[in-house]
Amino acid sequence: MQAIYNKLFKNYGKQGWWPLSKGGLNTKHHNGNPSSDKDKFEIIAGAILTQNTSWTNVEKAVFNLNKANMLSADKLRKAPLKKISALIKPAGYYNQKAERLKIIADYFLKNKEVFLKDAKALREELLNVIGIGPETADSIVLYAFEKPSFVIDAYTRRIFSRLGICKENDKYEEIQQKFEKRLPSDVDLFKEYHALIVEHAKRHCRKKPVCEKCILRKKCTY
Ligand code: SF4
Repeated sequence: MQAIYNKLFKNYGKQGWWPLSKGGLNTKHHNGNPSSDKDKFEIIAGAILTQNTSWTNVEKAVFNLNKANMLSADKLRKAPLKKISALIKPAGYYNQKAERLKIIADYFLKNKEVFLKDAKALREELLNVIGIGPETADSIVLYAFEKPSFVIDAYTRRIFSRLGICKENDKYEEIQQKFEKRLPSDVDLFKEYHALIVEHAKRHCRKKPVCEKCILRKKCTY
């Protein structure tokens, strides 16, 4: 696992996820670590908005929320559902996601002590919140609260099944364990690894893979 990371890092360089707006209108040029509650909540909102859609669509929704000065837990908790739905429309499933944003905004404001728990305990708590599945929970734990919990997404399943390390339909936690057992429990490494997986999936390991010049070709069973 570490050798694959090293290859990806050497080839693509530091990704610096999570992409944050940091006071700007969009997330394109303002990457960084969360340094405030506002940043943390932006990551939480992004993790919900990105369910079943691409990051490009999330960026449009984040842009709209920022422009309307609505990207905070307090504002989203109080705002009417219809208003939030209209702003996040580009991210798809907007009525459902608007409801989920309101639920997590309320949870974020009322349960500060939960976010002090360790990675495993925080993950378990988040999985009890409506609309939060394993991938969203791990994204929040890792990127918003900077605790080690490896994120598994469709890109991870695709690449690592092609590399013969898992099967594409293996259980989420089974694949996660493969990473967490074989890597040091290092937040920065986990953050960077997931971002590099996304980059590799976009550039080479697409649905229809572009295997020529792929740096993982020698290790690949596809
Ligand atoms: S060789 Fe092809 S299938 Fe294998 S990891 Fe690279 S792009 Fe994906």
